[in-house]
Amino acid sequence: MKQILVRGDVVTMNPTRDVLVGGAVVFDEDGIVAVGSTSALLAEHTDAQVHDVSGCVVTPGMVNAHQHHTGDPLVRSCIPDLLPPGAAIFEWAVPIHAAHTPADDEVAATITALESLRNGVTTVIEAGTVAHPEWVAAGMSAAGVRGTIGVWGWDIEVGPFAAPCDEVLDRQRAVVSQFPAGGLIEGWVTLVGHDLASDALLAGASDLARELGTSMTMHLSPTSSDPERYLERTGRRPVVHLDALGALGPHLLLAHGVWLDDDEVDLVLSSGTAIAYCPWAYLRLGQGVTVAGRHAEIVERGGRVALGCDASNAGDTGDILRAAAAAAGIARDRRLLPEQFGAHQAFELATIAGAEAVGMADRVGSLEPGKQADIVVHRASGWGWSPRGDVGLQLVWGTDGRSVSDVWVGGRQVIADGRSTQVDEDALYAAAADAQRSLLDRTGIQVPHVWPHIPSA
Ligand SMILES: [Zn+2]
Repeated sequence: MKQILVRGDVVTMNPTRDVLVGGAVVFDEDGIVAVGSTSALLAEHTDAQVHDVSGCVVTPGMVNAHQHHTGDPLVRSCIPDLLPPGAAIFEWAVPIHAAHTPADDEVAATITALESLRNGVTTVIEAGTVAHPEWVAAGMSAAGVRGTIGVWGWDIEVGPFAAPCDEVLDRQRAVVSQFPAGGLIEGWVTLVGHDLASDALLAGASDLARELGTSMTMHLSPTSSDPERYLERTGRRPVVHLDALGALGPHLLLAHGVWLDDDEVDLVLSSGTAIAYCPWAYLRLGQGVTVAGRHAEIVERGGRVALGCDASNAGDTGDILRAAAAAAGIARDRRLLPEQFGAHQAFELATIAGAEAVGMADRVGSLEPGKQADIVVHRASGWGWSPRGDVGLQLVWGTDGRSVSDVWVGGRQVIADGRSTQVDEDALYAAAADAQRSLLDRTGIQVPHVWPHIPSA
């Protein structure tokens, strides 16, 4: 059914970045039909269902290019803050992932999808740590988010869901054929990455993504550890080694890419390889983005960069506007360049530039006729928005995802007045609490509290 949003301030993110003050968007389940003046489009589309969004800001659905759908969502804010490098992974993430049942995967993915949508994020790229892809897809579909999905990919000797190279590639192929490109949920080749894949798997996965016409993602160099390990093992830095294996290219989305040297930055740019940049995770975990990160430079030199929120214990909230603010702040502070890389450029990474980096700019990332109707309404009233200023500054610096009130994905309204239209949120939160209790029981992990908790009922 045709719908029309009227009298909103429409931030189109089209090539000239037009903001239509008091404008309208007409759309249906096949995509956006028209964007323009409220009076003209109301007169032209008398059969459309009208949503009056007076006083609101309307933006494209945002893109989160690196998000763990499972594992962390059920132990949010449980992993201690002050741990040595690696402990969060080996003492927490690995056993928690290993103990996940298919039902845990579905609850965790539903929570992640819901959190994304309520923050105005409509496209989410799964990060490469899913054991039961069809259950994760069920959770994403239940909430109504657009996104990609993969399956656990590493061929190391120990670790949950590890397997020999050929078996890992077979699993990846199966997921991509089960969730074909172009659907609301599409299969990608996903490796854990880091130094946790053989050369055969790195090259084979890249070849597979090219052969199947899909994309590939993997973790690389959030800290200096990957460069050290690759230098030891191969004599080359990680991106130089991936280049030697023929793995770089526009089909590849590297998560992080914080610790890159000059040659690696040049290779990322010349190969068209994209990067998912998760600034909060590096700040939260003390990984050195303010020392080594060159994402702003990569963007300014024409590179493909999207923003990500990473995991519920590393980056924490699935709010890409928070990531945008951190990205702009780090770009300016680290380089002492207050005249470059502001809110508007950061919002591009959250929308059209991010969509381009994940290979979906033909479908999402801007409000233009022909694109999918992934649309977000921000309630631009209340203290964060009053009085109104420049809309780019207000979206990135002045507010965050908590202003989001209504969201459509593929022309279907999935959030209305701040609540899911698709899932029973209270039942979901209760299921998540149950799943967490059971997961902690099975793993024997106890959540430490820093401050004394005194029973006082
Ligand atoms: Zn990650």
